[in-house]
Amino acid sequence: MRARTGTETGRLFGARNMSIIVQKFGGSSVADAEKIHRAARRAIKAKLDGHQVVMVLSAMGKTTDKLITLAKEVNPNPPKREMDMLLTTGEQVSISLMAMALEAAGHQAISFTGRQIGMVTDASHTKARIRSIDAERICKELNAGKVVIVAGFQGVTEEGALTTLGRGGSDTTAVALAAVLKDSICEIYTDVDGVYTTDPRIVPQARKMNEINYDEMLELASLGAKVMHSRSIEFGKKYNVPIHVRSSLTDTEGTMIVAQTKGMEDVVVRGVTLKRDLARVVLVGVPNKPGVASKIFARIAQQGIVVDDIIQNIVEHAKEANIGFTVAGTDLKDADLVCKELGRELGIRSVEMDSGLAKVSVVGVGMKTHTGVAAKMFNALAYAQINIQNITTSEIVVSCVVNAEEGEKAVQVLHAEFELDKAKD
Ligand code: ADP
Ligand code: ASP
Ligand code: MG
Repeated sequence: MRARTGTETGRLFGARNMSIIVQKFGGSSVADAEKIHRAARRAIKAKLDGHQVVMVLSAMGKTTDKLITLAKEVNPNPPKREMDMLLTTGEQVSISLMAMALEAAGHQAISFTGRQIGMVTDASHTKARIRSIDAERICKELNAGKVVIVAGFQGVTEEGALTTLGRGGSDTTAVALAAVLKDSICEIYTDVDGVYTTDPRIVPQARKMNEINYDEMLELASLGAKVMHSRSIEFGKKYNVPIHVRSSLTDTEGTMIVAQTKGMEDVVVRGVTLKRDLARVVLVGVPNKPGVASKIFARIAQQGIVVDDIIQNIVEHAKEANIGFTVAGTDLKDADLVCKELGRELGIRSVEMDSGLAKVSVVGVGMKTHTGVAAKMFNALAYAQINIQNITTSEIVVSCVVNAEEGEKAVQVLHAEFELDKAKD
């Protein structure tokens, strides 16, 4: 990401020696008028404590879900550009109401859409990536003493089309803004009081962590821990933004996401995640010759489909291969279309689809220096009679694909196996 006004921002704030807090409130934290007032009081308190405050808001409650349902009633396969046009309306409601709440409490505030603050993205509708932010307008209003309220999750292309950053993307708006606003920290206000060893809705004994480093948090988020949008952690890491995940309802300290944590390598497994709604595509009878796989995955990437794991088996005396890969359930329709096209072009025998899968992962930087994690994980799943359909590993992650119905049970089993309910940090 390029901050178009990077130097200017530095100049504006360097002289003031006033720290900026970016406070992000998720949908449940702005779900009704009372919660909007509560969030406004947080911002006012930070302002009275001497900070300049930028608020980043999600759409109220389940607005985004409702808009998606509505769109599908009108068109089961809605154009992505129009989805973005629709979904960006949700955040526009919450930011304007928040500005009204602050004004009602006697504080100056101004709300901005993504377009108004030059949140420029690429053109991948429904999962756009931020290219640059023009912080000038925000800085001007902060210096005029206002609380600045920004619509999360949305941007605009160079050509002026509205885009969204993918579900949960307001976290990324907030951390990216904190990255371009010098010396700022980012507070993520949500409906849990921090980052837990796993989703506390699945394992009530899950334990809140006081701190976690960017690498582990990035893996947890990418592998299904919904509490943070994974791209927000990429920004946090790249620009070294301290992120505090905390409850919007209480004042308890949450979880700090930082570069280094104490005794990092001592904790072998830090957390367990569940990625729901995975699907598998298998290309059966792919000609086994150089360049075929590259053609297949280049075309899939062109369609903006994110491929999770890839498995290739050689069959028929090495003349053919079967290539399987997993994608998010929401990408299955697109994957189906591309693969059928590829099937015709490359002479692939058939394309098989299989939905209803989930991926359970254990994550921890300590795995770099400890062995036996994978074996322990497979044993625990076997003992619980959970069939593993596919395995992937990296330096700090071991993942298994299982049937979707067994996903939660697998998380519970692994959380207990690695004793994550016991204090370690
Ligand atoms: P918001 O609307 O505030 O962005 P989200 O629903 O996106 O909130 O994220 C918060 C939810 O993330 C929690 O309610 C919790 O169920 C879920 N979650 C999943 N994994 C974790 C985890 N490891 N720690 C905390 N919460 C988690
Ligand atoms: N409102 C969007 C969503 O529900 C963005 C967000 O909440 O972060 O995904
Ligand atoms: Mg979220």
